[in-house]
Amino acid sequence: MQRTFRHIETKIIHAGEPHPRLNGSVVMPIFQTAMFETKSDGDADYHDLRYIRLNNTPNHVALHSKLAAIENAEAALVASSGMAAITTTLLTILSSGDHLLIQDCTYGGTHSFVTHEFARYGIAYDIIDSTDPATWKSKLRPTTKAIYVEAIANPVMSVSDLAAAADFAKEHGLVSMVDNTFASPMNFRPAEWGFDLSLHSCTKYMNGHNDIVAGAVIGRAELVEQVRLNLNHLGGSLDPHACFLLHRGMKTLALRVRHQNVSALAIARFLDEHPSVTSVNYPGLIGNPHHARAAEFFDGFGGMLSFNLEGGARAAERLLDGVELPVIAPSLGGVDSLMTLPAMTSHRLLSPEERARIGIGDGLVRMSVGIEATDDLIEDLQQALES
Ligand code: PLP
Repeated sequence: MQRTFRHIETKIIHAGEPHPRLNGSVVMPIFQTAMFETKSDGDADYHDLRYIRLNNTPNHVALHSKLAAIENAEAALVASSGMAAITTTLLTILSSGDHLLIQDCTYGGTHSFVTHEFARYGIAYDIIDSTDPATWKSKLRPTTKAIYVEAIANPVMSVSDLAAAADFAKEHGLVSMVDNTFASPMNFRPAEWGFDLSLHSCTKYMNGHNDIVAGAVIGRAELVEQVRLNLNHLGGSLDPHACFLLHRGMKTLALRVRHQNVSALAIARFLDEHPSVTSVNYPGLIGNPHHARAAEFFDGFGGMLSFNLEGGARAAERLLDGVELPVIAPSLGGVDSLMTLPAMTSHRLLSPEERARIGIGDGLVRMSVGIEATDDLIEDLQQALES
C-alpha cells in the first residue's frame, strides 16, 4: 500500500519507495533486466508482462509514484527525454482533424514539432499570447481539443497566465497542458491549479546533475494511462539506469531549487544595478512585467535569468569568454551554472525577425544558476563585466 506524506520535501525522499525495502536496500536498486519472468508462483503480479519498453519495471513504478506525489497529481509516466514526453502526449491527445492552441514562445523542439510536423498528422494549431487570456476565445474552433502553455518560457522568462489557461480549458472542454520544466514542482504544481497534464524535461531541474536526458508526463490518471499506451507503441521509454540516476538526482530537488531561487534573485538584482547591463529578464524582480503573475502562481522564481549588455553581441561574447565559473553550454537546471547565447544556440533556427519579436537579441545572455556560492558567482560576473 502507498504511504502518503504531507510536505514536498518528505515526498521527494519517501514517496514511491518500495515498502518494505527490497532486501533491506536503503536505495532503490537498478533492475537492469529487459524482461521479467512470467512464470506464476501464485502471485497475481507475476502474470503481468514486465518489460522496459512497457515502462513497468520496479524502477519505473517507483519513479511514477514519486513524480505524481510531488506534483499532488493522480499519476505520472517517465519517458526517454522531455521531447519524447511532449511529442507522445501531443500525439495522444490530438488526432487528425483536431486543433491546438499553443503559446507563442515555447521550447524550440516543441515549437518546431508543432509548426513543422503537425500538418503531416492533419492536426491544426493557432499560436496564442499566453499572457493575454482575453485574446484566446477568438482563436477557438469547434475542433479545438487542447491548450498548451509553458510555466516560464525560455529565454525571456515570461510567465503565462496559468490559472486562466486551466480555467479556459475547463470552460471550453479542452485538455490543458503545461510544460513545467523551468518552474519545477518546487515552484509550481500544475494539478493544484487545475491543469490536466504537466510535462517535464527531467534532463533539467528534476534530475539536476546535467548527466542524463529524461522526460515526464504528470497529471490525470485517465490521460496519463492513454499516453502510457502510446509511449509503449512509440517506444520512448527510459532505461532503468537512467531511471536510477533520475531517482537519485530528484532526492535533492528541494535543496537545489530553493538555493537556486535565492541565488538567481540575488544575481538578477546585482545585474539589474550594474551600469553595463541594459535589461534583465527575471520574474522575481519587482519591476518585471511578469512579476505579479509569478508571485501569484509560484513558490519561488526559479534559477533561470537572461540579460542584455550595453555593448550588444560583441560584449556578450566577451562576457562569456571572461567568466570562470559558469560553463558555456546549452541546457539548464543542473548543479553547475551554465551560460549561453540563445540567438546562437537554442533559438538559432528562428529568423532574426522572429527572434526580435520574442525579445531575443544577438547579445542576450542566458544564465542557468547552479548551486555554487552566490557571492562567488556575483564576483565572477563582476570581474567579467569589468574586464
Ligand atoms: N521543454 C523545455 C522547456 C526545455 O527547455 C527542453 C529542453 O531544453 C525540453 C522541453 C526538451 O527536453 P529534452 O531535451 O529532455 O528532450
